[in-house]
Amino acid sequence: MMRRAATSFAIIAIVILSANALYAQDKALVNTSASPYAKLSSVNMGDVNWTTGFWADRFKVCRETMIPNLWKIYSDPKMGHAIQNFEIAAGLDTGSHVGPPFQDGDFYKLFEAVAAMYAATHDPKLDQLMDNTIALFAKAQRADGYIHTPTSIEERNHPNQSKAFNDRLNFETYNLGHLMTAACIHYRATGKRNFLDIAIKATDYLYNFYKTASPELARNAICPSHYMGVVEMYRTTYDPKYLELAKNLIDIRGLMKDGTDDNQDRIPFRQQTAATGHAVRANYLYAGAADVYAETGDTTLLHTLNLVWNDVINRKMYITGGCGALYDGVSPDGTSYLLKDVQEVHQAYGRDYQLPNFTAHNETCASIGNVLWNWRMLQLTGNAKYADVMELTLYNGMLSGISLDGKSFFYTNPLSIDDDLPFRDRWSRDRVGYIAYSDCCPPNVVRTIAEVSNYAYNISDKGLWFNLYGGNKLSTKLKDGSPIKLTQTTDYPWNGNVKIHFDETPGKEFSAFLRIPGWCKDASLMINGKTADIKLTPGEYAAITRNWKAGDQLELQLPMPVKMMEANPLVEETRNQVAVKRGPIVYCLESVDLPKGKKIADIALSSKANLKPQLIKIANSDIMSLNGFADVRNENNWNNSLYKEVSLANINTKLNIQLIPYYAWDNRGHVNMETWIPFDR
Ligand SMILES: [Zn+2]
Repeated sequence: MMRRAATSFAIIAIVILSANALYAQDKALVNTSASPYAKLSSVNMGDVNWTTGFWADRFKVCRETMIPNLWKIYSDPKMGHAIQNFEIAAGLDTGSHVGPPFQDGDFYKLFEAVAAMYAATHDPKLDQLMDNTIALFAKAQRADGYIHTPTSIEERNHPNQSKAFNDRLNFETYNLGHLMTAACIHYRATGKRNFLDIAIKATDYLYNFYKTASPELARNAICPSHYMGVVEMYRTTYDPKYLELAKNLIDIRGLMKDGTDDNQDRIPFRQQTAATGHAVRANYLYAGAADVYAETGDTTLLHTLNLVWNDVINRKMYITGGCGALYDGVSPDGTSYLLKDVQEVHQAYGRDYQLPNFTAHNETCASIGNVLWNWRMLQLTGNAKYADVMELTLYNGMLSGISLDGKSFFYTNPLSIDDDLPFRDRWSRDRVGYIAYSDCCPPNVVRTIAEVSNYAYNISDKGLWFNLYGGNKLSTKLKDGSPIKLTQTTDYPWNGNVKIHFDETPGKEFSAFLRIPGWCKDASLMINGKTADIKLTPGEYAAITRNWKAGDQLELQLPMPVKMMEANPLVEETRNQVAVKRGPIVYCLESVDLPKGKKIADIALSSKANLKPQLIKIANSDIMSLNGFADVRNENNWNNSLYKEVSLANINTKLNIQLIPYYAWDNRGHVNMETWIPFDR
């Protein structure tokens, strides 16, 4: 009996092992290693370890504060109630669902952050935490694979009134999408199948649902995180029906009668030429479509993606990488100019060049969507213009979503704040610890920070790609499996000197593709101490091909002078104003840095501002400020009037000022703030 049991155990073990072997062994965050239409693939999670500098600092705060703090909030019945929702859905507790319908998805995002953190740290406590939580997910999942706590709790409390997928604002597919992504990342980080098995059941459920769903039901696919999730499930399991589902999800869009621009489904995806509607939904859709292209090579998808990308970058994106200008508005005229066809949009892309500052919506999740989309476009093409947008958004529009101490969050990311404005914003003008009823951004920004290291490098059959610079050690394999190790030393983004020391190389020729950022006009390169005669073009990768040896050293100089930027004059809100940039960092002016009695609106910059970098600390974090001179109005008495005559006598007194990085604003108490500053020529 014992022997038979042992034999059975062995057989089961072999079956499990071989079942695992059927799945992708690649451990990338986004696994394009076998994607036929992706030029680049990723290094494995854990291959890059931040050592010192900017991202090492953010990663440390992520590990020590961001993740534990958010986990506590999501476990707190009085705050997140996320774990309690799963317990009630699982029948382990009683009560009602609390929180928005997308709470499950937001909790999966936090779980994903833990999985990514585990991949980098191998902290056994995180592994245990994840296993316990996965056991709970399994209990909350229906036998048919459906898992969504609002509906499951409703089913328990009111049997026979199942409402799955009947309410488009129930966010089931959004939640399922984040479950799939988190499960793939957990599988790659741990090698365990416990969460992946739940995700397989859930994806099978979705596959079967869409086999029979009407377009009207299918329109429930708002905020389509599941396009990315389903493709990642395909990349993990190689199950062709998941790719079929992903293709179908794109094809089915725009087929219903009452689609909206807000949901990007008024017209079929392939007929779209511009970014419209809810910016998070839009950017998730574009990222998902890029994933489908990577697997299918369907050029009609790429055609739309290129048109929409150009529209966003040239007409609709903030200088911070933020997306979604409008709190509320109308789509650019719907199907016609008739009033009856005008459609309401919210949290949405505006018209071309419509980029207000005070009322910029710029949801943190939309910035993250911009990162996810541009990352995927980079994987498809190897074109550095996508890495430029990704870097810009990571350092500015994404990072502004979280405080330096890692404990509070912005939902919206305006480019100016002035308390003299008499209206109340819908969302807080200061970061808050928990965004009640809309906590999508906090776990999204935390998972992104946990995962930035995965964006630093790529590999292709030609060699190794350097996308993001930061102090780190890389230990990975080239496409042919040969090992490579290197050490990168830099104070980037505060300083453009980047040293790369090869610690171990394959002993054969390959290319190092160094990204020359689009903002850097005068890059130079030394190889083993000698100036390299290689053309370094801004906004491109420079390929340096040779038989790299251990001990070889690259030294890249990316000069980052202070630059005053102006916007196309069609952006009326920024006419005659400048934004200040240094390297990839956008700067802003905070009222806390002005003398008492002076207001943000009194300040102007001129070409004589003479802004110089100076290392300071804010909230215990190293920050490069820019210090120089501003022009200031001496009198600014408006007496509540709307207009007055210009008085030349009142301007042009010099004042010492300090600008700080936009992402670091609102870390020194409540302030007024401005990114676009009037320019005295
Ligand atoms: Zn959000």
